[in-house]
Amino acid sequence: MTADQLADLIERMAARLLAERAVLNRLDAATGDGDHGSSISGALALAVQEIDALEEPSPQAIWLTTAQALLNGMGGASGAIFGTFFLKGAARLQDAQRISQVDMAALLEAGLAGVQARGRAQVGDKTMVDALAPAVAAFAAAADFPSAWRAAADAAAAGAESTRDMLARQGRAKYLGERAIGHVDPGATTIALMFAAAADTHTAE
Ligand code: ADP
Ligand code: MG
Repeated sequence: MTADQLADLIERMAARLLAERAVLNRLDAATGDGDHGSSISGALALAVQEIDALEEPSPQAIWLTTAQALLNGMGGASGAIFGTFFLKGAARLQDAQRISQVDMAALLEAGLAGVQARGRAQVGDKTMVDALAPAVAAFAAAADFPSAWRAAADAAAAGAESTRDMLARQGRAKYLGERAIGHVDPGATTIALMFAAAADTHTAE
């Protein structure tokens, strides 16, 4: 992927989350404080603006700008978690101008490791990690770039759905105990939507 394609990717993710903002807020209202859709879509809209304003939109600058928009524009624990995902990926990019599937797999893996180091969530804790971990694994295992995004999107969607029957061990939802059961985690749904948006993006190497 080129820098232009990465910028387009972030834009599509932002548009998708904006379109689903009310759905995500409603999911968060059931297990948290109801702000997730507004805060993630607002922060990504900010990322798109700031990417447009970059003088040298390299892949690393695009990923770093997205990280900073999430860290600053989202606030709270989840801003740090979603921001860390892009921040750790950005550190991997250095001065690369084109991103292969193998590069992207390493980027996503670094992001996931950063998220887990920061938030301490494991698969099964009813967080975005339940969608992200299987998506990253599916991406790395796929044969080529377009099928990697599609496989990751499918794995993320299944991972998000799997949170429905879980008790929460991280985030605000953990205070609900048994009452969290029956509700899909909003952050995991966001990850599924982000990968779905990526799967719709042109990703020729
Ligand atoms: P807040 O809980 O601060 O209001 P959001 O509503 O924006 O933040 O995001 C909530 C989402 O953050 C949850 O649905 C969950 O997926 C994710 N999350 C919360 N805590 C953690 C954690 N420790 N590790 C990974 N993800 C987490
Ligand atoms: Mg919330």
